[in-house]
Amino acid sequence: MKLSTLFRLDLRTLILLLAIGSALLTLLNVFYASYQAQHRLLLHSTLEANRVYATKLAEVTNHFFRTAWQQLAYSTGQVRDRLDDPARLQQATQDLLYQSDNFNAVAVVSKYGKILAAAPFEQHKALRLDTEGHKAILRRRAPLISQPYLSADNRLVVTLSYPLLDSAGEYQGYLGADIFLTEANVLNLLLGQHYYQDGSYLYVVDSEKHLIYHPDNTRLGEQIEGNPVIDSVLLGNSGEQRLLNSQGLDMLAGFAPVPLSGWGVVAQRPTAATLSELNAKMRGIFIGILPLTLLTLPCIWLLAALISRPLWQLARHAQHMDSPEVPQQIRRIRSWYFEARQLRQAMLKGIGLLHEKITQLNIDSLTDPMTGLLNRRGLQTMLDRLGDDTAFAVIALDIDHFKAINDSKGHAAGDEVIRFLARMMQENSRDSDILCRSGGEEFVMLLPEVTLAVASQVAERLRRHVAHSTPPFVDSLTISLGVTHHAARGPAVRQSLKIADAALYQAKQAGRNRVMVSPDGEHFKSVVS
Ligand code: GH3
Ligand code: MG
Ligand code: MG
Repeated sequence: MKLSTLFRLDLRTLILLLAIGSALLTLLNVFYASYQAQHRLLLHSTLEANRVYATKLAEVTNHFFRTAWQQLAYSTGQVRDRLDDPARLQQATQDLLYQSDNFNAVAVVSKYGKILAAAPFEQHKALRLDTEGHKAILRRRAPLISQPYLSADNRLVVTLSYPLLDSAGEYQGYLGADIFLTEANVLNLLLGQHYYQDGSYLYVVDSEKHLIYHPDNTRLGEQIEGNPVIDSVLLGNSGEQRLLNSQGLDMLAGFAPVPLSGWGVVAQRPTAATLSELNAKMRGIFIGILPLTLLTLPCIWLLAALISRPLWQLARHAQHMDSPEVPQQIRRIRSWYFEARQLRQAMLKGIGLLHEKITQLNIDSLTDPMTGLLNRRGLQTMLDRLGDDTAFAVIALDIDHFKAINDSKGHAAGDEVIRFLARMMQENSRDSDILCRSGGEEFVMLLPEVTLAVASQVAERLRRHVAHSTPPFVDSLTISLGVTHHAARGPAVRQSLKIADAALYQAKQAGRNRVMVSPDGEHFKSVVS
């Protein structure tokens, strides 16, 4: 099916389509642009928030290790003088443990690896430590933070150690403090507990990519490979990155290293969670725009109708410009802008010319060009106009012996004589009389509202004037005339014309150059002046 048959393809439809199309396009554009801007903004602000959070936590964790060491350093001062006094040593050890929430267990270890005092696990006293970690501490004789490791009782532990020197500066062992990563302590408070509701979370890896803090405890200890953020943070970098994590999830991550322990802190939020906020936002924007848009549409419709209306009306009238009432209707069209006004003016001018031409053609078609009198069609038109209610007299007339004029003087001279007679007829009649050249040298005169008697006199006067005139080319000219009367609402006009013709014939028969009157086509009477 063709498009134009489905709906009318006119100016209004086109304006409507154009306006609504561009309005919707603009709307879509605005919507899309704000979506893009919000999208960028959300991703950026989430990444930035995560970076700031990770950086802050890494800094605080680093600071925690530094102050923890300071605490240990201070305690070594208390401990080194009591190495020979087990009770007081035990007391100092407990003091160190209980003065803060920093540590879960504290022990004084001799340079031979023997536990001299321990809290809260006093029973560990006299145990000899020979794990690789403790051997390393004894070997290094420096403040250390161990790699997180699984203790004998299956706890994930980090040990901070500080060398123990006697007053002579001799190495006597070390002061070790354990932090149980999954149990209550300051570090756990710092890194292990985050209460987000928007899908964000935090995790910490040690220098060998093991998860040491993660909201999912079952994953603790897992070694993560192929995560670009972990690779980067363990190189000492801090920053932010959108990435696919080791489980293939799209994440927005911020990260920062903890220099003292060699750990990496990563705060992240699933991209999908962040963008779900965007959908709600866009719904809000859409609902915000909707009322104005809905209000705009009828306005567009109204404007389209207003703009197209004058042109539509002009186009409609253009279909029948020949109708007489069209100019009036076109003049009434409210053409309120330039193009419509110009078109209306042009149409009115065109219609004026058209009507003038038609009138001229009508006149031409009703007149005899040679004499300027009506022709047969003109006579019929006038009879129609007179209608049935008007009475009139009919005079039929014919030039006598015209053939002879033609023969002797030529056809052109004959024409000139015909024109001469026409002029005489005009001179001898009134404006209201209807003069017609009904054939070659035959004429009919209708005299509205004129009686038979008066018409007879008019005919006789004309005959006399012609007979006494000075025609061109010939010495004299005579005519014969037949007169009758047509009553209002009488018999057919054709009948009256026939009677006039019959009277004319009688005039010819009676010797020409005379007027014969007949009221009915049966009785004839010659008019005598
Ligand atoms: P009558 O007295 O009986 O009327 O004789 P007539 O010679 O006039 O005869 P008729 O009326 O029959 O002849 C008319 C002639 O007029 C015939 C034709 O050649 C001539 N005629 C008709 N129309 C014209 C015309 O327009 N111009 C000229 N010059 N002659 C015409
Ligand atoms: Mg004739
Ligand atoms: Mg004749």
